[in-house]
Amino acid sequence: MNKITVIGVGYVGLVTSTCFAELGNQVVGLDIDQKKIDNLNKGIIPIYEEGLTDLIKKNQKNNNLSFTTNISKAVKSSDIIFIAVGTPPMADGSVNLEYVKAAAESIGKNMNGYKIIINKSTVPIGTGDLVKRIIGQNYNGEFDIVSNPEFLREGTAVYDFMHPDRIIIGNGSKKAQKIINDLYAPQNSTIINTDIKTAELIKYASNAFLATEISFINSIANICEKIGADVSKVSQGMKFDNRIGQKAFLNAGIGYGGSCFPKDVKGLIQIAQENGVRFSILDAVEDTNLAQKQSLLPKIQSLLGQGLHGKNITIWGLAFKPNTDDVREAPSLIIIKQLLDRDAKITVVDPIAINPAKLILGDTVNYEKDLLQSVANADCLIIATEWPEFKNVDLKQIKKSMKKANIVDGRNIFDKEEIKDLGFNYISVGR
Ligand code: NAD
Repeated sequence: MNKITVIGVGYVGLVTSTCFAELGNQVVGLDIDQKKIDNLNKGIIPIYEEGLTDLIKKNQKNNNLSFTTNISKAVKSSDIIFIAVGTPPMADGSVNLEYVKAAAESIGKNMNGYKIIINKSTVPIGTGDLVKRIIGQNYNGEFDIVSNPEFLREGTAVYDFMHPDRIIIGNGSKKAQKIINDLYAPQNSTIINTDIKTAELIKYASNAFLATEISFINSIANICEKIGADVSKVSQGMKFDNRIGQKAFLNAGIGYGGSCFPKDVKGLIQIAQENGVRFSILDAVEDTNLAQKQSLLPKIQSLLGQGLHGKNITIWGLAFKPNTDDVREAPSLIIIKQLLDRDAKITVVDPIAINPAKLILGDTVNYEKDLLQSVANADCLIIATEWPEFKNVDLKQIKKSMKKANIVDGRNIFDKEEIKDLGFNYISVGR
């Protein structure tokens, strides 16, 4: 059993702390957000993640997991400290390390013996050295720094944490390497031990590569639209090449969003620039993604005409992807802004992302729970997130309820032949 503190209980920190507790460790989750901690202590969980609530409650009950804002107690009582705070992008694309630095300082000020400090946040190359310096300025004793980037996906975070494809451990000492390899032994996964900078780069390289695949297939989709080909078949044909693989990120749509890909592509562009490396592929990945996020508007206008003033438009899906309530950088928000700028009347539906979306959209749109109700009198239905429940809807009922049978499907969730047979005007992506 290890005594662990996780600093920052957001998407990554909350899953990390809960899963390590579930694996039999004694874990403290610490945050500076008093309300978040009060809520966690009352059993109110700040994010939606399948299976997470039950695991939190179970481990709180058996005293493996607690939440606090008391940094002194949390640091002093633990041998292993994870930093899992946010690393948002700054206006120029560089990474804001303010939270990481603050966490490092508060660790340094409260050290009371040998501890391993692990960076789980996605951080630019060299941040391991920075954290070491900051802690060293505040504490004279022995400690080790490890980089252990996280690869969990929102929506399947608990599963991913428990069954990772690989675990990356970048560290500077044999002692720390052994302790952290043992900590991760229960996950029974491939562990890659390397140096800190390589570990930091593996995270950026992985996310930027996945984002590149998405922009690549979206550009292929745009060609498909011009020549009358079907991108889903192109993608299928590509994936059977074992060098590309069945799990390749080759689903055309309206672009990537979320808190990681946009930020990490920007971050790697910055890292390349700082080191005098030309990485122009990534500029193209970003440009393509922005254009893709804006690509639904002309499709909607081709069905409803240029002027959208007063048109009733329903949007299914706010989250940047299914099974999460995260709306950060979600393509839905760009479409909604474009439509509001043109005075359309918007109704939105999302199974779980309504509350976070309300913080951004306020009362500029109507929120609806029921799919059928949401399309009553609608001129057009837009699919912005591929939630499974949208795929299984009774389209005949939907058509009856709508004013005009127009669907613009940004996620290719419907069978294009079937939906046209039902009499819809239907535009999807690259098909
Ligand atoms: P988040 O914004 O959901 O949570 C960050 C938390 O840190 C917040 O609760 C905040 O209050 C807290 N915090 C900030 N400063 C603090 C401090 N000094 N002390 C204590 N708490 C502090 O962030 P997230 O999505 O969990 O991401 C965290 C890191 O993990 C980022 O670097 C991100 O890039 C990386 N990451 C995220 C994901 C993901 O899917 N969200 C996946 C892999 C890696």
